[in-house]
Amino acid sequence: MGAETHRYTGRFAPSPTGPLHAGSLVAALASWLDARAHAGQWLVRIEDVDRPRCVAGADRLILQQLQACGLHPDAPPLWQSQRSAHYQQALDHLIAQGLAYPCHCSRRDIENAMLRNGQTAVRHGELIYPGSCRPAVTVASALATAAEPLAWRLRTDLAGKGATAWQDRRLGPQQQDVATAVGDFVLKRADGCFSYQLAVVVDDAAQTISDVVRGEDLADNTARQVLLQRALGLPTPRYLHTPLLLGANGEKLSKQNGAQALDTSHPLAALNHAATVLGLPAQAGSVAQALEVWVGFWKMSPLYNPSP
Ligand code: GLU
Repeated sequence: MGAETHRYTGRFAPSPTGPLHAGSLVAALASWLDARAHAGQWLVRIEDVDRPRCVAGADRLILQQLQACGLHPDAPPLWQSQRSAHYQQALDHLIAQGLAYPCHCSRRDIENAMLRNGQTAVRHGELIYPGSCRPAVTVASALATAAEPLAWRLRTDLAGKGATAWQDRRLGPQQQDVATAVGDFVLKRADGCFSYQLAVVVDDAAQTISDVVRGEDLADNTARQVLLQRALGLPTPRYLHTPLLLGANGEKLSKQNGAQALDTSHPLAALNHAATVLGLPAQAGSVAQALEVWVGFWKMSPLYNPSP
């Protein structure tokens, strides 16, 4: 091989709000297989940025579950709770460009403003921020040190004009007008926690992630992340959103709807279940053998498409 033109780095980025469940193993396995099939690196990032939702010890449990399933990261895991300075730096950059502004609205304030505007749209249970605190003129705001705890939002009207387009390796061309579909989303909350959107973008760039492989339930966040990458001058990785494991009721499995912790006392059984969701045949034998066979299948799978 000559000089490396495209070094593949993938990642699995669980939130330690509980142990892994059968659905999260699908994303972990898919990102691991894609990295191995590309002879790339695979990293694990603990997304413990939303501190109130994190459960003590869940990070350790997740790392043990991955290990039991033979999914070993190529570098020590990264904890987002240790990276606040990097997120603040990114936020400061957006503030300096007039792309972020402070917001003191409570949920009730937002609901009232929406009612006044005759707006009823709610997206996945989230309110579409009506822009009440958005400054009328673009100013590099000096309010970062205000005494009152404030949230910070992205000016989606300035960060992106019209629809943000991106390509998914499985779902094909995607687009979303973030300003109208989502509104000015939160970068940092009033309680001081940085948002998932900001942290994920800063860290995917810091870890030189070339390919994000994650569950399809997260696809809807991608346009927001692409918008932020552009505003921060960061590269956009390739994206592959995998099929989801659905519960008996047809809904995706999640900790919120009571998905059971992944039982790793029979790791091959857990992996076989995840592999089936990815269209890979169940294997017998050892975990290491099964993973090796699946790397071969992955290269023939429609989910695999090597870099152009
Ligand atoms: N931490 C997110 C979650 O567990 C995943 C983030 C990502 O893969 O971009 O849902």
